[in-house]
Amino acid sequence: MKKIILTYEEISKRCKLIGEQLATRYRFNDTPPVFIGVMKGAIPFLTDLVTYVDIPLIIDYIQVGSFNGTESTGTVVLKKDVTQDVRNRDIVIVEDIVDSGISMAFLVDYFQRKYQPKSIVTVALLDKKCNRKVPFELDYAGEEIENVFVMGYGLDYKDLYRNTRYVFVPDEEDIKKCEEISSRY
Ligand code: 5GP
Ligand code: MG
Repeated sequence: MKKIILTYEEISKRCKLIGEQLATRYRFNDTPPVFIGVMKGAIPFLTDLVTYVDIPLIIDYIQVGSFNGTESTGTVVLKKDVTQDVRNRDIVIVEDIVDSGISMAFLVDYFQRKYQPKSIVTVALLDKKCNRKVPFELDYAGEEIENVFVMGYGLDYKDLYRNTRYVFVPDEEDIKKCEEISSRY
């Protein structure tokens, strides 16, 4: 049996909690903060999160790759850059999950070097704190989880299962199903 670890109701509560704190943080900004979703996993979370950030803001996306199946490879590559020039802007990097910390550490370093933003804040729905390979601490985390592989609500296996409203720990059947489907193309 697959185990649901966050229902949509629980996800919404976390979006509201973090979203309202971020609204307060940037309420008196002269320029709108830029919320940058890390594709593809963070898209559902970013989409729901910003509905609770009741201030003018800009949405953008960046894409990096590091995961291969259920294992992090440790090397991060940039696949798509942001479209906004975020020099001297307040940016909020939004991730689905922080695991080893390598992707987020890479992104923070990347933005600092290339754009020198005014400030960088990091947010993730899930935090596998126990699994860090590099030191990295999130500014806002929805939920701390143990070292298990999770899927759903943006999180994939072989690019599948991102489209559930809940986050779950897959069972063997779920993984087998993904393998079977992805073997067809
Ligand atoms: P890190 O660089 O922190 O090790 O990994 C970050 C990325 O790996 C996340 O953005 C996510 O795409 C992927 N990832 C980490 N843990 C999981 C997991 O449990 N399930 C899925 N589907 N992806 C994960
Ligand atoms: Mg991700």
